[in-house]
Amino acid sequence: MTDNIKGKVIVITGASSGMGEATARDLAANGAKVALGARRLDRLDGIVKDITEAGGEAVAVATDVTKRADVQALVDTAKDRFDRVDVIFNNAGLMPLSPLESLRIDEWDQMIDVNIKGTLYGIAAALPIFKEQKSGQVINVSSVYGHITVASGAVYCATKHAVRSLSEGLRQEVKDYNVRVTVISPGAVDTELTQHITEPELGDNVREFVSQIAVPANTMADMVSFAVSQPENVDVNEILFRPTVQP
Ligand code: NDP
Repeated sequence: MTDNIKGKVIVITGASSGMGEATARDLAANGAKVALGARRLDRLDGIVKDITEAGGEAVAVATDVTKRADVQALVDTAKDRFDRVDVIFNNAGLMPLSPLESLRIDEWDQMIDVNIKGTLYGIAAALPIFKEQKSGQVINVSSVYGHITVASGAVYCATKHAVRSLSEGLRQEVKDYNVRVTVISPGAVDTELTQHITEPELGDNVREFVSQIAVPANTMADMVSFAVSQPENVDVNEILFRPTVQP
């Protein structure tokens, strides 16, 4: 199946750490040409260096997904450099959990801007190219928390429910252009995600819980590879995975 990955041009947001980085390295090792976006350009440059030294093809673009022009520039760079775009992996996300009554409104705004609007900006940048090519794949990242709602996670859960909803709406709209839409919902994965929780006790508890059960970031790479490598007429609409012991 990895033959279907070789040569594909894949744009990845949030590629500087965690699941985005792991997926970038894995897809590039299987012959994909990857365009990497995130705010920490130094980290992206290091990943590009590793990939190119190993004989792969990669380009890095400093990207803040809350800025539509940045996301457009990332996708445009991929198209200019590699002539086409086959997949956009809208992976960038934030999870600063807190009870609503703490009124951490700046964090609510960040989650809405990165998790929802960042995903929409990725779709906006890639869709015209996909329609012209009559081929393409959007892969969005939701969460187990896009399937359930938990206390202290109201806003994060709402953003991840939104990602699933907009993914299904998009799928129905673009199927006739031969555009595939996949939404992947992970459970606990070992990444930097929990480091941004600013509620002290909650942050410690979540980090302790996740550290005991999390699966490696490369688990996501396997899921993305599975979805990308299907034949063109097979659209893997939804993947939900979690550590076996996670409730
Ligand atoms: P990480 O914190 O390791 O990675 C998050 C990535 O998002 C980083 O590369 C970060 O890059 C990027 N990012 C954050 N804000 C922005 C922004 N404004 N513009 C561009 N990039 C941004 O966490 P994960 O790998 O875990 O997260 C990947 C996705 O998986 C997220 O959508 C997350 O919600 C989701 N998820 C994670 C789970 C887990 O247990 N880890 C479970 C369920 C879902 P930079 O800071 O350099 O901009």
